[in-house]
Amino acid sequence: MDFSLSRTQEQWQAAMAEFLEAEVYPAEPIARAEVAALTPEQRWQRPEVLSRLVEAARGAGLWGLWLPEPYGGGLSHLDFAPVVELSGRSPHLAPEAINANSPDIGNMELLQRFGTDAQRAEWLEPLAAGEFRSSFAMTEPDVASSDAGNIATSIEVDEAAGQVVINGRKWWSSGAMSPDCRVLLVMGKSNPRGQRHQQHSLVIVPMDTPGVQVERAMTVLGFPDACTGGHGEISFTDVRVPLSNVVGDLHRGFGLAQARMAPTRLMHCLKLIGVAERAFDLMAQRVPKRVVFGRPLAQQGLVQQWIAHSRVEIDQARLLGYRAAWSLDHKDDQDSAAAISALKVVAPAMASRVVDRAIQAHGALGLSQDTPLAELNAYARQMHIADGPDEVHMMAVARHELRRYSS
Ligand SMILES: Cc1cc2nc3c(=O)[nH]c(=O)nc-3n(C[C@H](O)[C@H](O)[C@H](O)COP(=O)(O)OP(=O)(O)OC[C@H]3O[C@@H](n4cnc5c(N)ncnc54)[C@H](O)[C@@H]3O)c2cc1C
Repeated sequence: MDFSLSRTQEQWQAAMAEFLEAEVYPAEPIARAEVAALTPEQRWQRPEVLSRLVEAARGAGLWGLWLPEPYGGGLSHLDFAPVVELSGRSPHLAPEAINANSPDIGNMELLQRFGTDAQRAEWLEPLAAGEFRSSFAMTEPDVASSDAGNIATSIEVDEAAGQVVINGRKWWSSGAMSPDCRVLLVMGKSNPRGQRHQQHSLVIVPMDTPGVQVERAMTVLGFPDACTGGHGEISFTDVRVPLSNVVGDLHRGFGLAQARMAPTRLMHCLKLIGVAERAFDLMAQRVPKRVVFGRPLAQQGLVQQWIAHSRVEIDQARLLGYRAAWSLDHKDDQDSAAAISALKVVAPAMASRVVDRAIQAHGALGLSQDTPLAELNAYARQMHIADGPDEVHMMAVARHELRRYSS
């Protein structure tokens, strides 16, 4: 077993690190100021500085590295892992700048793996080129959506018209507030009396289809996540799209949604390692300089424990992250599921603890707008719930383990 990075990993890790230093960190305060200056009507548009970052990322060869050819650079999950980890150091700008932001990353993977040629030409190619953005509409306000089998939005097939008709309400559709969001991937129930995993379908719905109504934006611990298109609540009233907009087979949407989630979860968790590393840097830079009771914080035993625990926990999560990336490259979705769930249990908890220690080490400054820590905290906290709550992933790990003991 070789723990050193490959030449490909080293090359792209160095390029991403340079991009962060030269472009992304300087852009953070500019993006904040731009978003704050927008009028309510302009609120969800992409900050100009982010568009400039996209151009800089393209120039550095970092755009779409993970997408298979001909859509992108064709890196394996493992080769892309150090890049996506680094992008988490600025989670509201860097992933979007390199076309590795959720939910687009999952939607592109889904269309690439399961879409028809026509669907890929119409939706995947422009998404891969960054011509517009997308959203994924699964979660619903009226049902416990951690159990995807509960998803109740109805999808009826109108054979005569060659269409499907969608009625229901979704929320937390990330990216949907952006004027650049042109398409939704909607999961709904098309076969209510079918077997549990053969009840749902996944349908491509252009945002401008009559009956699609964005009702309001959700905030995350008070943050609108405006840079990346916010999170929308959306109603669907007699929304009609052609039957050819169904992704994969009718009534097989449950499995497709799960397949979509695996790489998305991996990417989110790798980003959380970057989140934690950024918080760790800030903490480790701060504590030698801040003197309390005659000694720098860095010389207080308790603070040294924060540093030691944080380093060990980040490195543990990275090992799990790289193992999960390797698994997605070499095994099928089913066989990778436990590795992904293990990572999804560990990474948000690790990032929350590290960011929390960093906030504590900064005193009141850590809660303020003068460091990125408050935003990093919100990002780490949301990942205990987004893409499946902690408990669901613990259940998955436990079931995987217990299967080995049942005869
Ligand atoms: C920032 C953010 C972005 C998101 N983006 C999207 C998106 O783009 N598209 C989309 O469709 N959804 C999105 N979501 C929604 C997210 O995937 C759901 O919120 C999540 O799956 C949980 O569903 P729920 O909110 O309905 O919680 P519920 O299903 O009501 O669950 C509530 C709580 O029950 C507990 N629980 C669940 N199962 C178990 C169990 N087996 N044992 C013990 N406890 C359990 C968990 O603690 C859970 O938090 C996003 C959410 C957030 C916060």
